[in-house]
Amino acid sequence: MDFKLSEREELLRKSIAEFAQREIAPLVEEMEKTGEFPRPLIKKMRDIGLLGLVTSPEYGGNGMGFLARAIAIEEISTVPAAVGIALQVHHMACWPIETWGTDEQKKKYLPRLTNGETLGVCSITEPSGGSDVFGMQTTARDEGDHWVINGRKCFATNSHVSDIMVIVAKTGEDAKGRPAFSAFIVEPSYEGFSLGREENKMGFRGAFSGELVFQDCKVPKENLLGKLGEGLKIGLATVNRVGRPGMASIGVGLCYASLEEASKFARERVLYGKPISNLQAIQFLLADIYALAEAARLLNYRANWMMDQGLPCDTEMTLAKLVATENAFQCARMACDIHGGYSCILEYPVQRYLRDAWVSIPSGGTSQVAKVVLGRHAVKNF
Ligand SMILES: Cc1cc2nc3c(=O)[nH]c(=O)nc-3n(C[C@H](O)[C@H](O)[C@H](O)COP(=O)(O)OP(=O)(O)OC[C@H]3O[C@@H](n4cnc5c(N)ncnc54)[C@H](O)[C@@H]3O)c2cc1C
Repeated sequence: MDFKLSEREELLRKSIAEFAQREIAPLVEEMEKTGEFPRPLIKKMRDIGLLGLVTSPEYGGNGMGFLARAIAIEEISTVPAAVGIALQVHHMACWPIETWGTDEQKKKYLPRLTNGETLGVCSITEPSGGSDVFGMQTTARDEGDHWVINGRKCFATNSHVSDIMVIVAKTGEDAKGRPAFSAFIVEPSYEGFSLGREENKMGFRGAFSGELVFQDCKVPKENLLGKLGEGLKIGLATVNRVGRPGMASIGVGLCYASLEEASKFARERVLYGKPISNLQAIQFLLADIYALAEAARLLNYRANWMMDQGLPCDTEMTLAKLVATENAFQCARMACDIHGGYSCILEYPVQRYLRDAWVSIPSGGTSQVAKVVLGRHAVKNF
């Protein structure tokens, strides 16, 4: 067992950390105010290789893989987690296209997703309930030379900044009479597509979360992704293997951001004539934050390493996501405790970490749903 990151991964961490401080930190205040993603950042993210981390060089990516991606998203998310989620969902559009796409689809869409033209969307959730995927109402009808899609998606990250969207819609019934779903690649320029409301969120401010509206939306026949009826398989695999580790990496980033800020504040804040870092109660809080951060990071690196090795890792991904996002919230809460009243003042970032950590918990599937999966695994295996 080797816990040492390679030189390449250490270098990546350093360059992404510098990039995040230089290019993203100055944008955070505006992102918090407007809730809008800073579009010029897309090309800068391309320049440093972030857009193509899980895409092969053949299609313009660098194929560095999932552990590298975890490190990159973690570092970005210590600055603003909003850019972390925008990037991680972008990869949720790239990965299924490369995994299930035809040669034509890969050649047409992947270079556009890696060259900084646009961020990708991967949208499954509908107002009828994100946890209940079988309750999806959006339909796609075969009209001979094209598909006609009707319905409404919600909570789509990057909605208002994307030209390439992977979506899942109902296309009939399977052999057992259960609803069957298929995946499609949709461009917002297609007739019958429009953007709906843009959510005004408490956290991840600066990452778009919006509605996608399909009213007799005409989608070319060749934009079916994978085979007819494979939509649920494609959607769930993308959530499990790309979405959950992406959210876990954001959680890890938030844990360490809380640790850094809390430790710095504790060293600087003087009470009773001494820094509060001398108080054992404060040291215990810092120890708890540190322990939660390390546990989350190790689970996440293991899951992503397994993904890179081609090992089955759905359970490990779910575990990493549950632990990292829940730990992020606890770490931010303790960092706020250490800040006392200053935690309520907007210029101190710990209040943002708390809001972002809270929003990270349902994103990519709620903790309760993760526990349903892990509980079943535990009953069967232990
Ligand atoms: C910031 C943000 C970004 C997002 N980005 C995307 C995106 O890019 N693409 C996308 O498709 N979706 C996205 N989502 C949606 C996200 O996946 C859903 O919010 C999530 O799956 C939960 O669905 P819901 O909000 O409809 O809650 P519901 O499914 O309505 O759940 C309500 C409650 O019921 C509980 N519950 C549900 N089922 C069970 C069960 N079986 N057992 C026990 N309890 C249960 C839940 O845990 C929760 O407490 C995003 C969400 C957020 C907040």
